[in-house]
Amino acid sequence: MLRIGLGGPDRPSIRFLKEWPRGFYISPLVDNFDCELQRFLTERYFKDGAALFGRESPEELQTIREWARGYLDETSDDDVYLIAQYFVQRVRNYVHLQTLSEARIVHAISYGCEAHNGRVIDVELSRAKLRVIRRLSLLEYSEEVWGRDLGFPPFSIECICRIEGL
Ligand SMILES: [Zn+2]
Repeated sequence: MLRIGLGGPDRPSIRFLKEWPRGFYISPLVDNFDCELQRFLTERYFKDGAALFGRESPEELQTIREWARGYLDETSDDDVYLIAQYFVQRVRNYVHLQTLSEARIVHAISYGCEAHNGRVIDVELSRAKLRVIRRLSLLEYSEEVWGRDLGFPPFSIECICRIEGL
C-alpha cells in the first residue's frame, strides 16, 4: 500500500493536484474557482498535514471556514470536516489508482460501503475514467463526478474506503 509519512509532504498528491488543469473541485458549498482555497487545502493536507487528517480540532475546522471566505460560515463542523475528508479521499485514491496494476478495496467500513469490502477494482477502467474526468470543467465535475460512485473509492462523500494493490 501507499505509505505516507506522518507529517511529511505527500509529494505524489501535490504533483497530481498541480496537473489538474482547472483546479480540483472541492464542494458545492464553496467557491471552487477560489485558487487560494484550493492551495490552502493542498498545503494543509498534503504538504504538512498528512498526520492531521482525521483528527481535526474545532479550531482547525474553523481555519478551513476562514479560508472559504464566508461560504462555510453557516456550515457545521461535521460538514466542514466532510468537505476536507472527501477532498483528501478523492486525491489519495485517484493518485493510488495510477500506481497500481491490480487493486482491491479495503477498509470498507463507512456506511453503505460494507458490501465493497475485498472487491477487486478494474484498474484499467478506473484510469480511463480518471483521464476523462481530469478534462472536465469544474461545473461538469460537480454534476458528473462529485458524490457519485465511479466504481472506485470514494463511493460517496462519507466514504473512507481505501484501495490496496494485489
Ligand atoms: Zn467507502
